[in-house]
Amino acid sequence: MSPDGLPPLREVIARYELAPRKSLGQNFLLDLNLTGKVARAAGDLTGATVIEVGPGPGGLTRALLMGGAAKVIAVERDERCLAALAEISAHYPGRLETVSGDALTTDFAALAAGHERVLIVANLPYNIGTELLVGWLTAEPWPPFYESMTLMFQREVAERIVAAPGSGAYGRLGVLAGWRTQARIAFDVPPQAFTPPPKVTSSVVHLAPRPEPLPTDARRLARVTQSAFGQRRKMLRQSLKPLGGEALLEKAGIDPTRRAETLSVAEFVALTAALDG
Ligand code: SAM
Repeated sequence: MSPDGLPPLREVIARYELAPRKSLGQNFLLDLNLTGKVARAAGDLTGATVIEVGPGPGGLTRALLMGGAAKVIAVERDERCLAALAEISAHYPGRLETVSGDALTTDFAALAAGHERVLIVANLPYNIGTELLVGWLTAEPWPPFYESMTLMFQREVAERIVAAPGSGAYGRLGVLAGWRTQARIAFDVPPQAFTPPPKVTSSVVHLAPRPEPLPTDARRLARVTQSAFGQRRKMLRQSLKPLGGEALLEKAGIDPTRRAETLSVAEFVALTAALDG
C-alpha cells in the first residue's frame, strides 16, 4: 500500500495493463514523492478545484487529492485509464471527476464554471502541451477562469515560456506568456523519473496570471510576434514587411533596424496597437 491507502502505481499499471503509449505522450510519474513535489509547486491546494489534463494511471491526481484539493477534474483521452481512475474516485468520494475526452476540444472554462478557486496542474503530453498552454494564455475574458497553472514541459519548451527579451529562447511563446502571466521554472525533473524515460530533461513551470496585462488583442499580438520571429535573424523592417514594414515600426516608435528578440512585451503591444490604428 502507498501512504494514501491505494495500491502502488506499478501495481495499478500492471493490473489495468496500462503499457505506456508514445502516441499519447505517455511518460508516467510513479514516484509519489515527486508527484507530491509537483502538487506543492501549485501552491495552497486547500479547498481548491484542480483541473488536470492527462491523469493517466493517476499518480499526480493522487498527490493533488492527498495535498488537500477539494476536487480534481481530470480530462483523459486514453479510455484504458478510466478503471484505474474510478478506483481513486471510490477512495476519495465526490472529489474526483473524470472527463473522458480530448483536451484539445475541451471547454475548460465550462468545466471551471461554478468553482471558486481553480488551479490547472498537469504533467502534459509533450505533443500537445504548447497548444494547450497557448489556449489558456489567450483565454477570454481576463483575468481567466484559473488562478494559476503548474505544468510539466520539456526543459527546452519551459525555457521558451519563461524567456526574457535578448535571450535566444525568447519568441512567440515568451511574449504571450510574459504579456499575460508571471512565469517561472519551479524545478527540473530528470528523464529517469518517468516511465518510460523521455530523451530530454523536463521542467515544471508555474504561471500566475497578471491581473491587468497591457491591453491588446491576443490574436493580433500572436500575428505580429509570428511575423517578427518568423525571420528572427532579420531586421524588423524586413520581417514585418507583410504587416506594414517600416511605416508600421515608425508608427509604433520602434527602430526598424532592430531584431525581434530585442523587443520587450510592451513594444510588441505597441506594434499591435499600430497595426490596429
Ligand atoms: N499524469 C500522469 C503522470 O504524471 O504520470 C500522466 C502524464 S502523461 C505525460 C500524459 C497523459 O495525457 C497520458 O495519460 C495521456 O493518455 C494523456 N493524453 C494524451 N493526449 C491527450 C489528449 N489529447 N487529451 C487528454 N489527455 C491526453
